[in-house]
Amino acid sequence: MGFSEFIGNGAVVERLRRSIGNGRLPQAMILAGPAGAGKYTLALMIAQAANCINPAELESRATGELPDFCGECPNCVRIAAAAPLSARFEEAVAVREELREADKKETRILIQTHPDVLVIPPDPPQLLIKLGQVRRVIHEIYRFPSEARRAFYIFTSSGFMKEAANSLLKILEEPPEFASIVLLTENPGELLPTIRSRACIVRLAALPLAEIEALLASRREDWKPAQRSLVARLCEGAAGRALNFPLEGYLASRQDALILIRGAMAEPDYSALFRMTETYRAGAEGQQKMSGLNRALMSVLEDLLLLRSGNPELIRNIDLAAELTRMADALSLEWLESAAGGVSRLESGMRRNLLRAVALDSFASEVSV
Ligand SMILES: [Zn+2]
Repeated sequence: MGFSEFIGNGAVVERLRRSIGNGRLPQAMILAGPAGAGKYTLALMIAQAANCINPAELESRATGELPDFCGECPNCVRIAAAAPLSARFEEAVAVREELREADKKETRILIQTHPDVLVIPPDPPQLLIKLGQVRRVIHEIYRFPSEARRAFYIFTSSGFMKEAANSLLKILEEPPEFASIVLLTENPGELLPTIRSRACIVRLAALPLAEIEALLASRREDWKPAQRSLVARLCEGAAGRALNFPLEGYLASRQDALILIRGAMAEPDYSALFRMTETYRAGAEGQQKMSGLNRALMSVLEDLLLLRSGNPELIRNIDLAAELTRMADALSLEWLESAAGGVSRLESGMRRNLLRAVALDSFASEVSV
């Protein structure tokens, strides 16, 4: 257990550890990076390292070593229990669903597995941080931590309701010395400039392709080498996304995307197309399948555009390089542009909740003309 488990961004992690060691961890910190880069994991690790009470850890600190955490002491264990975020979030939402109507309205989603570490996720259904959540932080943050050396308030999203952002700003103007506010975001630009200027920005960079490939080689031996290369190219440098990549689902969606594109390229073979569109039904499952198909369609179309424009080294679906090259040779740039336009219309049609199968059929006939 410890920081050695964190994948990539070694220099950033070392800087954070040093600031824990010399007692200079910022009171407000923006942890920025792509989805799956490990922002939440790192935020919890920082909270653990700042509060680990294992004698061996404390001793190593006295000798000036970089702080780490044991993962076994009561503070470490309870802080670690706040992960995985998606499971804790769903539990909190389920608890609220059980409440009486009147209480439901007043209750905001929060995750707290340690008395001094509060996790604030975006509140459904709008999935924004709300005033009630920030009020809870205001209520707690000036209270001296009871069992931790340093209290942590971790906002897992930068999507704030306006009044919530304004309230957060008030805390940031005068934060207590014994607490750190950590804001996780894919895009710091989403935060108010006045919030950004009061926080220290720490960026997790995308990992290089070779690093992701090495990681997958050691941790996903169940995937074939060609599949690992594919995932490494699709995960956009995010280790968490690579390790948990829904490969089977992606391959199925991509199969459908290829049927659609082939159908639209030639005299469409409507029988194959209809067979496929019939499997896309309405409802939550259909919607998920449909957005998977959209992503796969876009990734294949982007590769076709890259091949068409003479950049074969940049394609992501490399396991299909031969077939995609043949397809790209048979297609014009105009066709590809109109197909990409078709996919974005397909997406907006979904948002308007068109019958999914109808939308798919019209996509194929539209781009084939
Ligand atoms: Zn510990």
